[in-house]
Amino acid sequence: MCGIVGYAGKNKGISKVMTGLKSLEYRGYDSSGIAYMKNGKINIIKKEGPIVNLDSCLDYNEDIDIAISHTRWATHGVANDINAHPHRQGKITLVHNGIIENYNELKKELISKGYTFKSDTDTEIASAYLDYIYNKTGNILESLSELTNILKGSYAFNIICDDEPEVIYGMRKDSPLIVGLGDKENILASDIPAVLHITNKYVLLDNYDIVKLTNDKVLFYNKNLEEIKKEVKEFTFDKESISKNGYDHFMLKEINEEADVVKKHLNLYTENDKVKDIFDLSKYKSIDIVACGSASFAGQIGKYYIEKYKNIKVNVYYASEYRYQKNFFDKDTLVLLISQSGETADTLAALKLAKENNIDTLSIVNRKDSSIARESKYVIYTEAGIEIAVATTKAYLSQIIVLLLMAVKDTKYEEKAINDLKLLPNLITKYINEYDYQSIAKIVSEKEHVFYLGRGIDYYLAMEGSLKLKEISYIHSEAFQAGELKHGSISLIDKDFGVISIVTDKTISDKTISNLKEVSSRGAKVIAITNIREDFYDYSIEIDDYDEILNPLLVIVPMQMLAYNVAKLKGCDIDKPRNLAKSVTVE
Ligand code: GLU
Repeated sequence: MCGIVGYAGKNKGISKVMTGLKSLEYRGYDSSGIAYMKNGKINIIKKEGPIVNLDSCLDYNEDIDIAISHTRWATHGVANDINAHPHRQGKITLVHNGIIENYNELKKELISKGYTFKSDTDTEIASAYLDYIYNKTGNILESLSELTNILKGSYAFNIICDDEPEVIYGMRKDSPLIVGLGDKENILASDIPAVLHITNKYVLLDNYDIVKLTNDKVLFYNKNLEEIKKEVKEFTFDKESISKNGYDHFMLKEINEEADVVKKHLNLYTENDKVKDIFDLSKYKSIDIVACGSASFAGQIGKYYIEKYKNIKVNVYYASEYRYQKNFFDKDTLVLLISQSGETADTLAALKLAKENNIDTLSIVNRKDSSIARESKYVIYTEAGIEIAVATTKAYLSQIIVLLLMAVKDTKYEEKAINDLKLLPNLITKYINEYDYQSIAKIVSEKEHVFYLGRGIDYYLAMEGSLKLKEISYIHSEAFQAGELKHGSISLIDKDFGVISIVTDKTISDKTISNLKEVSSRGAKVIAITNIREDFYDYSIEIDDYDEILNPLLVIVPMQMLAYNVAKLKGCDIDKPRNLAKSVTVE
């Protein structure tokens, strides 16, 4: 969830970790902190709020070789200077991503041994417990190995021990950590963007791996402290993918990349109007799609396409629920996990549960080598490229495209779907550039409450439209099945209520339009994103009318552009909405 960067090199340690940390700010950003070694002594600086608050306290020119740093997304204890990381106990200073689930029990034990605590975090307990073990063993590697037997929950750590001022240790379980291998400098971080200013060569740590990092040496150990060799990977990227490239926000840049994303998927997964190299769903009797947030809404669209074109029953579940509900696993069911980051903790836990029950698992993920990609039996990669804005746009679309291609593979809809997708890039560009989103955004921005309505596939789209709007503009928005509204929630409607409706599905649009008339008669202003013209709409964003495969896809960019423009008018921090983080690595 948070971002971790540790650096072992020669000079400029502060600047090196801070460059990395800024590229991870999308992972969490309620506070940040740094610890660095200077003349054999540890210095710690921590600040509540965005990274600039920390940045303004630092001297980039200091002669620093060893530093660890962190942006926090608070789970235990409010966001303030004291709870910010690094945390220090005895000789141990560390930063942490994850949750120590048994921290309360450990805290009691440590208090009985004389430890006192400054923060409310679970992390400080881990630093104290490591110090406690280290005082007994006098050996940091042994202490780390022992710590893995003590801690429950998830963690990625960067650790400095006072007795080894030229070393950073790293260790992980269920939270990502990678090592970037440079020339006389090495770096240990949560994610690839944070190492790219130093190197494109990296190693992925597995659960319980321990790494010992100095400026000229990187050693890997397993839990039994046997030295192990790890595969060195190379990340190929173009620098533009991690810059705004002239756009005001990453979100707008990423919406503009959607046309290319569609083309990439066509190149990769189709040939001569046939779907190729993609997973074949046909042998399963049912599919459980398990995901969180927008990925689960992409899953709903997938359900619509798969049930319709493949005639396979699909259920869509939130991963956070799936793990704890009664599941009827049978061998004819496929569990299909969807995650942009491939690190979503709830989805990863659901995947593990399916595996324990010997059920086939397929993941659709955007990040190569991520935990979900590595742990699932089968994987399909979306080719959305790096997505930086917290609110997903291009990754959501790419998940839907992959689901659609799987749904039509070897059916009579295959060629039609591919030809439809070929039309999509130009339409996306048209929808970005040709509409006056601002005037409709102005109406929405004045609302406190909005219903996003639709039926069938239009409802599934509305779920994402509504989430997009609320997560970046902070307007309360709820997606509702248009027909369900009159069974209670319509009592909320008055002239101040906003209603946005998706109306594309002609098989059911008459009914949706009647429902919209019901809210319109009660004074609500109705905004329609639609291919069906109606005089009573107060405002409409008109999309083209093709067919049942393409029409739903045409709504996506207008919904995203509307949310973007509302948030912009309201002056919100569009790329980094409050309380959110891009990669949700805690459950
Ligand atoms: N659980 C830790 C805390 O609340 C770490 C959270 C994070 O991953 O940012 O400080």
